[in-house]
Formats: sequence, C-alpha cells, structure tokens
Amino acid sequence: MTRKEYSELLVPNVEHDVNYYEEKYPKRDLKVGEMVTRFAPSPTGFVHMGSLYASFVDLVMARQTNGIAMLRIEDTDQKREVENGIEGIVNDFKNLGINFNEGPSFGGNYGPYVQSERGDIYRAYVRKLIEEDKAYPCFCTPEELEETRNIQELEKARIGYYGTWAKCRSLTMEEAIEKVKNGEKYIIRLKSPGNFNNKVVLHDLIKGNIEMPENDMDIVILKSDNLPTYHFAHAVDDHLMHTTNVIRGDEWVSSWNVHEQLFKVLGFEMPAYAHISPLTVKEGNTVRKISKRKDPWAAVSYYHQKGIPTEVIDLYLATINNSTFESWYLQNPDKGINDFEFEFDKCPIGGTLFDIQKLISISKVYFSALKASKLYEGVLEYTEKYDLEFHELLKKYKEYMINVLNIEREIPRPRRDISAYEDVRKFTWYMFDELYFKEAKFNLEKKYNIELLKDYVNNYYNESDSKEEWFNKIKELAPKYGYAAETKAYKQEPEKYVGSIGDICEAIRVAVTSLTMTPDLYEILKNLGKERIIKRINFFEESNK
Ligand code: GLU
Repeated sequence: MTRKEYSELLVPNVEHDVNYYEEKYPKRDLKVGEMVTRFAPSPTGFVHMGSLYASFVDLVMARQTNGIAMLRIEDTDQKREVENGIEGIVNDFKNLGINFNEGPSFGGNYGPYVQSERGDIYRAYVRKLIEEDKAYPCFCTPEELEETRNIQELEKARIGYYGTWAKCRSLTMEEAIEKVKNGEKYIIRLKSPGNFNNKVVLHDLIKGNIEMPENDMDIVILKSDNLPTYHFAHAVDDHLMHTTNVIRGDEWVSSWNVHEQLFKVLGFEMPAYAHISPLTVKEGNTVRKISKRKDPWAAVSYYHQKGIPTEVIDLYLATINNSTFESWYLQNPDKGINDFEFEFDKCPIGGTLFDIQKLISISKVYFSALKASKLYEGVLEYTEKYDLEFHELLKKYKEYMINVLNIEREIPRPRRDISAYEDVRKFTWYMFDELYFKEAKFNLEKKYNIELLKDYVNNYYNESDSKEEWFNKIKELAPKYGYAAETKAYKQEPEKYVGSIGDICEAIRVAVTSLTMTPDLYEILKNLGKERIIKRINFFEESNK
C-alpha cells in the first residue's frame, strides 16, 4: 500500500485534495498594510462583552487598514455547543448593527465560514500530513491514556503524548492497517518534529516577545467524530482564508508553540499574532474574567434591551483598547472611532477591569450630544421593540416630542440625564397627557397653594412670554401670596415669608409634572401650553382633595 492509499484508508470519503482548495482560495489582492482579521467564536452561548471586545479589535484594525474582517464560527467541539448557537451569534451582531465583511450570512469568497461545514477541507490536509508521514493514527483507548498519565505523574515526567510515551507513533503502517481492519477505533495525531529543549519566540504585537519551549506533543488533529481539533482547524482556515493577523484572547498564548509548529509542518505562511487581554471583574478580593454565566450585564442583549447603542459600547471598548483614545476623544468630540488610529502596542497587556459606571458616563455624554431629531429616531426604533405604548405616543406626537427632547439640548452644555433609550420615557412621560393623567402620583403630605396656582395660570401665564418675562411674572405674583420675590431676601429673613420664589416654581412644577425635579420649567410650560396647564392644575387640585 502506498502512503497515499494509506492516508485514504485512514481518512476515507474526502472529495478533493489540498491542491483543489489551494486553487479555490487564491491569495487575496491586498495592498501593503491591509489586514485580514477574523473573529472566531465558538457557538457556546450569547455574544458577551469579552467577545465583543475581541471582535471590536478585529473590526477596527481591518477597517482602518482598508482590509477585511471575517466572522468564523468554530464549532468543531460539538459537545460544547448550545442550541441555535450560530444563529444567536449572527443575530447578536446584526442587532448591534455590526457587520463583518465576510462570514455566515455576510457572504464572502473564502467560505464556508462555519467550521463544521469545512470537514472535507480539513480532512484533505490531514490526508496530506499522513501521506508525508507527519501524522499518524492513534489507537490508544481512554483507559490506556489514563494509565500513561498516572505513570507520568508517578515518575514526575511531563504529562502528555510525546516522545517515547507516544505509543502509537512507532506503529508501522502494516500494524496500523491491521488494527484498522480489525475495526479498532482511532484518531489522528500530529507527529511532532519538535524538541522540548529548543525555544521558539512568539513576536506578539501586543505583548511583545514571548519565549517558550518548542512543542513536542503529538497533539490530536482529527478526532473520532471525524472533525479536527481547534488547533488544526484554525491553522487550515487562517491559511486558506489568508488571515494576516490572528487577534484572539490571551488564553491561547500558551498553545502558540503548537500553532507555530502546525503552520510549519503544513507548509503555511505564519500570520502575525496579537493576543488581547481579557476583560475582568472584581469579586471579593479576586479578579476574574468576565463570565457569561455569572455576569448578566456581560451579555450584549442586556445593552440592547436597555437601549445603549453600539456606538457607546464601541466608545467604551475604544477607551479600554488604546490608552490614548479617551483624551483624544475628549479633544475631538465631533469625531468618531473611525478617525482614530488604533495601534496594537497601545493595547493593555494585562486584564482590564470592566467598569459599567464608566460605560454609563460615556453613554450620557454620547446621548447629550445627540440632536433631538436623532434621539427621537433612536427612541422610536427602540420602543417599537420594547415599549409599544410609548412608541404609539411618539408616533402620534412626533414634532411635539422632538421639541420636548430638545429641552436643554443642542446648547453648549446640554443635559446629561439620559444614558440609554429606556431612560427617555422615565424623563419625559409626564409630558404626555395620556400618561400624566394615568400615572402621576403626588406627594399629598406637602401642601401647595392651589389658589396661587390658578391665579398664576389664569392671570399671569402667557405662552408667548420670553423666559425673562415669564420669570418676572412669577416675581410679580410672589408678594401677593406672601412669598419673597428674591431668594436673597428670603434667605435673610425667612420668617417674614411663606416661602421664596423657588417654592412657587416647585408648586407649578409639581402640579404640571408631579415631580420635584425636571428640566427647565419655562420650556416645559411652553411645550404644554396654557390650556393643558390649566387642566393639569385642576387635576392636581382634585387629587389633593
Ligand atoms: N474558537 C476560539 C475561541 O472561541 C477562537 C480562538 C481564535 O480566535 O483563534 O476561543
């Protein structure tokens, strides 16, 4: 039997050989510096902040070099997969408005972009390695492997399948064929050419040079389910997809020597590597990685439900990602992420604590800079999904709502109360009669002078007054009811008055909004208009009876 036939016996039913794939996926036409990156999640759950951070780096580096960012689903470990995992990931990204240049449901000429659909491709390369005597079948049972491990522990030897411990490595072709014919189960292992005493150096774009021993483990490349391991699959994929920069979590640093060897053995050109450090959280005295399971706020769906836009998450991730971004952004608030040049060597080397307060404060700045009409569009879209009652009101009163949203907005120091679309209702509901008359709750313990309120709206309030005129009218009204027209006078002799002008404003505010704190009262009244103010004061009176 030739080695080629041997490889076909061990890895049957493979339609094409590697030459076919080498031709099918030709080199990309890239200019110097253009990066091809890939975000390669396993479909083990929702997209979370940690994975979003990794994908952010993939996307910005590709975008700013005019390159390509791919989404690749790594689902060769089917035991870990969750139901609808792939769909979930793609939908999470689409909901966030994040588009990859290539990937499942994004298109591209280097697909399929789901590893479980690429089985034939991997098997062609496994065959090639067997043919070249760089891989071999291993018939060891789990019990045998366990036994080897126990002996290694006893002898204080390195644990693993390597050197003389690698039993099946020395099987002859004939012995192996015999076992296959007898129906013995096997997997395929790499015949590692490495020597543990040699050193290899990873030139990591973020972490700098990292020296480690050369790999000498005969790692599994094709499992018993006929799918490759991550190590093997990613090497083949990054080669055929012509990835220039592998950007991934730093938990992969320690197996880089395996990857380096695989690329060499397969005759592939090595991509550059950038290992990013994880987002972490503090738990008691320890710091741990963000967890999908433990941290509900780590799910991107959490931000989606609250209505924190992707732009905000991106600004936060940019702040984490490059130490100089934040100060640049503060100096250039009118610019965006795409105007900033990210560099690998400014990425954090150690883990970064995830700081939701920081994200919220970034969000407040972001929302404060939005034009009212843009904010309106955003909240309209948000409520369509999460708050239909409010959505209907927004549709019905479009112009009105834009004016309401514009209170203390589009000015040099705009209000910074909104941090998510879900907040908009919280800060504006009382401006809608449909909600005010239904939901207003008054603190009935505090007594306000209803006569004053009625007098004010009937005889003093005028919709067309300027702010100054408006305020002067309240001052005019004050002494009539025993209030101080000037706060200063009140402060000097509080016993002489029932209150100050501020108390009159509070009474008006409470009557028309039910709240003691709102944005500019003058603007609120103007937007409500005299007729509605009267109705609300009457309602307030009724509620106080
Ligand atoms: N599938 C791997 C993971 O989810 C990807 C690592 C890589 O980007 O190469 O961790």
